[in-house]
Amino acid sequence: MLIHEGDIALVMGRSAVKCDGETCRWSKNNSGMVNVPYTISSDFSDAYVSIIQKAMQEFETLTCVRFVNRTTESDYVQMVVQSGCWSYVGKIGGGQQLSLVPECMTHGSVQHELNHALGFFHEQSRSDRDNYVTVLLDNVLLGTASNFQKYDSNNLGLEYDYSSVMHYGRFAFSKLNNLPTIVPKPDASINIGQRYGLSTLDIAKINKLYQCGLCRGLFSNSTGSIISSNYPNNYPKDTDCAWLIRIPSNQIFLQFSAFDVQASSDCVSDYLRIYDGPSRSSPLLLDRSCGAGQLPPMISTGTSMLIEFVSDNMIEATGFKASYSTVTCGALLTNPSGTISSPMYPANYPPSMDCTWAINAPPGFVVSLNITDFNVEFMSTCAFDYLLVFNGPQTTSPLIGRYCGKGVKVPSIRSTGSSLLLQFRSDSSIQLAGFFSKYAFGKFKKKHDVA
Ligand SMILES: [Zn+2]
Repeated sequence: MLIHEGDIALVMGRSAVKCDGETCRWSKNNSGMVNVPYTISSDFSDAYVSIIQKAMQEFETLTCVRFVNRTTESDYVQMVVQSGCWSYVGKIGGGQQLSLVPECMTHGSVQHELNHALGFFHEQSRSDRDNYVTVLLDNVLLGTASNFQKYDSNNLGLEYDYSSVMHYGRFAFSKLNNLPTIVPKPDASINIGQRYGLSTLDIAKINKLYQCGLCRGLFSNSTGSIISSNYPNNYPKDTDCAWLIRIPSNQIFLQFSAFDVQASSDCVSDYLRIYDGPSRSSPLLLDRSCGAGQLPPMISTGTSMLIEFVSDNMIEATGFKASYSTVTCGALLTNPSGTISSPMYPANYPPSMDCTWAINAPPGFVVSLNITDFNVEFMSTCAFDYLLVFNGPQTTSPLIGRYCGKGVKVPSIRSTGSSLLLQFRSDSSIQLAGFFSKYAFGKFKKKHDVA
């Protein structure tokens, strides 16, 4: 086995660099899907198989590439445990090995190798890389300079991507740990070499290379906005869009500032649907929703959220506008009653917490909240550690109170609409037990109602 650039396997007598024409691409079937058959060695533990499958699933969610179990196909990827992590570049014909070992058994590293198998080289090998990075060959370990070769690559008309999962890190093949071998320019401080997972541009490149023609997007920054096409004009007919928010840690807090989607019975025509996880098999946060009005905020339980937007060929509307940020804890609460407490309660809450809870009752109900225990670092303007309660579903809704202090008796709270939003923040110093509260949904009683 000849290994090149750390993890690219070369076929003897065949240049893996030249991958012209269609022979090195996986073929597309009649339904527009690119099926890549694979087998998986029994040497992989169940835990590793699950990491591999999750890594593969993201290609399926965001591109037209499907990794499918091999039946009789002659060209396929053999996932094996050999020495190190490596792959061939593109389809080479027959069974082609792709090796993964525990050291690289992470979401991003597995996707890196799979992306090689789809036909992608390292990002810093691109023909135009000298405009974006300086390779410091003097700092490269003796005998490994070939890892920094530049290719006459097909850049697909898409820009150079420092955040690509295919980009080397700053110290790759360094002769000394503190000597960089790749320095971005002009801003040397830009991060390179992330292995959390495919980047927004990695996804765009796969969709371009395989001409997927899909409406897909990936958001991996800690904040961002998702807006339906053409907003505030009408969204297109027959759209089938999906956006994945995937952050390295913490939870996702998504708020809507506009929502207007063609109404239909059971929202069968046009709809927005949100999953609490990375794929369409994840649990639902929001089932098919349509019509106009305000949507509750969405809070993921994990580090990913998938947003699906579908329209039919009739009547459009303006669509939606949403933005997200990250929170360290919190939840979307839709059960008729429950409790909310600060993290670790009744032990002291951790420093630097930023939590959000959205309590969302069905229309016609109100939310009552009773804070039964409250001990949060005191400061006269409650600027250090505090709890905010908003009368509505958003951080822009009217503020009911800002609370801090020890042994505080907070009067019971009742929403005017069907939702309340709570935010708890702690700074880096002085932690106390925090708070404990109970909430319940109630029927809104008008004055003329008979008790
Ligand atoms: Zn590689």
